[in-house]
Amino acid sequence: MIEKIINENFTVSPPQKSEKRTLVSPGKEIQDGYVGSVAYSLPKPIKKLEYDLRRELKKEDLSEYLQGARCQSRKGEELKDKNPPVTISIIHTNDLHGRHTPINTPNTGNVDMGGTPFVASLIKELEKKETDEASLIVDVGDVAYAPPVSDKFHFEPMADVMNKVGYEIMTLGNHEFQWGVPVLEKEFISKLKFPVVISNVVEKATNAPLPNTLPYIIEDIKGIKVGILGLLTPKMATDAHPQVGKDVKVENPADCARRVVKELKRLGVDVIVALTHEGLDADKELAKSVEGINLIIAGHDHEKVSDPIVVINPAGEKTLVVEAGSYGEYVGNVELMVDTDKKVIKAKYELYPVYSKQIKPDPEVKTIVDKFLHEVGEVFHKALGIG
Ligand SMILES: [Zn+2]
Repeated sequence: MIEKIINENFTVSPPQKSEKRTLVSPGKEIQDGYVGSVAYSLPKPIKKLEYDLRRELKKEDLSEYLQGARCQSRKGEELKDKNPPVTISIIHTNDLHGRHTPINTPNTGNVDMGGTPFVASLIKELEKKETDEASLIVDVGDVAYAPPVSDKFHFEPMADVMNKVGYEIMTLGNHEFQWGVPVLEKEFISKLKFPVVISNVVEKATNAPLPNTLPYIIEDIKGIKVGILGLLTPKMATDAHPQVGKDVKVENPADCARRVVKELKRLGVDVIVALTHEGLDADKELAKSVEGINLIIAGHDHEKVSDPIVVINPAGEKTLVVEAGSYGEYVGNVELMVDTDKKVIKAKYELYPVYSKQIKPDPEVKTIVDKFLHEVGEVFHKALGIG
């Protein structure tokens, strides 16, 4: 059970996490002509690398280090930790842009990739591997804006899909402001069964966060307090619609992060994750200039980051930056290993390609998607292939 801890001073109560997903049991017949389990073997991730995130030891640290959990045997081998580290997993997508059907472009190597029913299937499989207790499913924004289904229904298809997949937290992208703030609030945020975390956006009139959004959230995952903040690129968000700049204020992401990280530390958070929608260059600057962030899950510039970017932050610690392409072509999974001192010591990153032809679509998500696509005359398997 992942327990939500909200800042005691913060009065907006977030929507509750959606009900637990029921995985189809093996052998059960499901719709759409597929017989058997929804489960399939996970495709091979592009890279599977481990990163040592411990601070490089200085001489003065050495005596403390040797008294700690790790020490050398007489033969010079490292002895195992007394207690195994806790592993927490963050499964992530970004810039889905309402791509409910697979796309097939030179960018995907002319093979079918993505489509929300396939993304859903992969995410559920990953969550099963990691277990619900130890994992979070997050998205970092720009979920909707893609013609023609979004032109007609705005956020509705993606809200239904994300609720069904069991996303647990998301932040907003600039395109979420495409139809103005009232549409965003009424047709998207209020429909979600999971919290929207956005730290640097407030209503201009009240200086309060947008209704039903949180400036940060703290999740207790296997006894580790994970603080999560959300950051949005300022200019493109306020330029997305003529009224947005009048309705909301978007604070400089790094200034905001510094403030929120401090607050999270005050609240006793062990691990800090920033969900950012500002592009990798800005994220590298963020990591370099703000201490205390362990992991940045990025979006906005649609970059496929196969090897996480490692940035040394002002405290001399390592911040990892990852991003999972766009349009649901990839799903990322970061495993953070946290030791008995509640410090992140290692990370593992896997970027999974969503090869639609090798994945059975999630039947429930496909049902949702079919309904909307039918309304706009789309055929499910037709590749859109539009940027
Ligand atoms: Zn964007």
